[in-house]
Amino acid sequence: MSAFQNAMAQLEAAAQTINLPAGIHQRLQKPERVIEVDFSVKMDDGATRLFHGYRVQYSSLRGPYKGGLRFHAQVDLDEVKALAFWMAIKCAVVNIPMGGGKGGITINPKDLSAAELERLTRAFTRAIADTIGPDKDVPAPDVNTTPQIMDWLVDEYEKMVGHAARAVVTGKSISQGGSEGRGRATGQGAFYVFEAFRNRHNLAPETTRVAVHGFGNAGQEIARQFFTHGYRVVAVADSKGAILNDNGLDIPALIDFKKAGSKIAGFPGSRDISDDEFFRLECGVLAPSSLENTLTADRAQNMKCRMVLELANGPTTPEADVIFKERGVPVVPDVLVNSGGVAVSYLEWLQNKQGEHWSEERVLAQLKELMDKASGEVIAAAEKFGVSYRQAAFIVALERMQAVT
Ligand code: GLU
Repeated sequence: MSAFQNAMAQLEAAAQTINLPAGIHQRLQKPERVIEVDFSVKMDDGATRLFHGYRVQYSSLRGPYKGGLRFHAQVDLDEVKALAFWMAIKCAVVNIPMGGGKGGITINPKDLSAAELERLTRAFTRAIADTIGPDKDVPAPDVNTTPQIMDWLVDEYEKMVGHAARAVVTGKSISQGGSEGRGRATGQGAFYVFEAFRNRHNLAPETTRVAVHGFGNAGQEIARQFFTHGYRVVAVADSKGAILNDNGLDIPALIDFKKAGSKIAGFPGSRDISDDEFFRLECGVLAPSSLENTLTADRAQNMKCRMVLELANGPTTPEADVIFKERGVPVVPDVLVNSGGVAVSYLEWLQNKQGEHWSEERVLAQLKELMDKASGEVIAAAEKFGVSYRQAAFIVALERMQAVT
């Protein structure tokens, strides 16, 4: 199943449970607008190369389109549509006044030099400039896109419109109007969600082993959170391999190791393991934190974990979802778990609009409040309707969207 089909299957399940009126249901079955651009970039060797990029403006029901930009070889229209739809649901779950959008370029950014990456970002910004804007559509980081890339984007956009417009993008560097706490917000928010759910599933620090799949921005921060709170993070995987240490990995040291060598395999004191072994590990929490469709039916059948905490967008296929349900493994869904990223993006947007810069304490306190509230609402909906946490999160979102139509 493609990512978008997966997303639509999730919509159908929740829509049926609450008898979602046809008007809004149909609106959510397709994006409001799809922008595809071809643009050329001068490479370091003097040659000009053509690139293809997307911006999908899925839903503006609850506010300006909001969502990241992904630079990855796997980016295509289907994926961007799915991610944009999930943004709309996510913003409604965490109750910020934003709609859903997403964009991306089909590229492996590691093939580009820093100067090429800058020219690529600026050319893409020029190509989509008339469709974005602080009150229209606000991009942000996602897979392989960094604060530096957001800084180039805002700089190019401001040059084009001829005035300051910091709020056109979030996830910027602090010096360019970024928010304190934005860098760690996705993982930090995910840990707040975990804490709201953990007592329901008896996951105490002393007895809970954690495995994290994906070691980018979100994966590193959730691993660090678990580590700091006394959990044993026994296994971590990135795109190049997986490692295990039954006594628990030293996560801050592992983050430094990855930064130095851009991989985790070979980390001192750990053993390299296969993907297969990783997904069969006995653990309390498995946190998929990479790309879509990592938890397939096959893997779901064999996994020995007591909770799935989805930091990635769309990591669980619909078939795997059914298997987890049958096996009694709770899945705390992406649209709740990783919504801390966009929640702090919204706080950054607010600070830019008001010309303010808030302390990290203030930002994290607001993030915690938003995550606690959303977690409580999802738990309440799961109980009320007797459905999975995923369906419950969708129900919370759909009811909020319905309220504005
Ligand atoms: N890319 C992140 C996500 O998937 C954050 C989006 C944002 O901050 O707008 O939720």
